[in-house]
Amino acid sequence: MADHKTEAILLRCVDIGETDRIVHLFTPDLGRVTAMAKSARKSVKRFPGTLDLMNHLQVDLQIRPQRMTYIGRGKLISPFLELRAVPSRFALGCYLVELLGRLAPEGGAGGDSRRLFDFTLGAMHSIENLDPGPKLRMFLMLESLCALGLRPELRHCVRCGTELAGGDAFAFHFGEGGAHCGGCKREDGSSVPIHLGTLRLLEQGLHFGIDKLDRLQIPTREMREAEQLVGRFHRFHVGLELRSEAFLAEAFATHARGGANPA
Ligand SMILES: [Zn+2]
Repeated sequence: MADHKTEAILLRCVDIGETDRIVHLFTPDLGRVTAMAKSARKSVKRFPGTLDLMNHLQVDLQIRPQRMTYIGRGKLISPFLELRAVPSRFALGCYLVELLGRLAPEGGAGGDSRRLFDFTLGAMHSIENLDPGPKLRMFLMLESLCALGLRPELRHCVRCGTELAGGDAFAFHFGEGGAHCGGCKREDGSSVPIHLGTLRLLEQGLHFGIDKLDRLQIPTREMREAEQLVGRFHRFHVGLELRSEAFLAEAFATHARGGANPA
């Protein structure tokens, strides 16, 4: 039995029997891992308040070929307390871990898992610290897809390669994963009209990164277009609706009404 020490973010957990817990982890070196934590709910010594959703942990994994992986011990690095204190922040965190649970690769291919892990930790800190409004939600969705290797082409036409410029009317094609210039665009159900300004703002937001989104001002029309584009792009690639999406929509509706959410 090989012991493997690694960091992890807890994506999902399911209680089994009286005391055990199955956990789905995302790690920087092994990618997505499913592991059994025996006696997790009664061993305060081995798992002192660690095995909860979204926690950042240090874990000892016991890995055996062709057998179930076990967690020998877990140590809490961060519980992201600020993220749990506000419904819209918590909803964004739930969305992020559910998306990783669906799309993050197993097996940790090269540096990809490390990059995705670092992105996730950075995103969790941004969710804790930034205004949890529509702009953060939209760029969290978009940057998460980019981090998972699904980056849309926003600057050049995906058909002819021309750099998009000028006052032409453009379109965004979901199946082809990017923008069409005026000459290449087709009227079909797989694309939507899009203004150049919206594409530029999305590109600029990706360039800044989630942690510097405060620098980006997005006018109402461009925001509406961008939200529709990102929402449909997300649905196209993720397929089924995530369970956290309904919660996210509800938390943001409360936020918009100035309800229980203080941010
Ligand atoms: Zn073109």
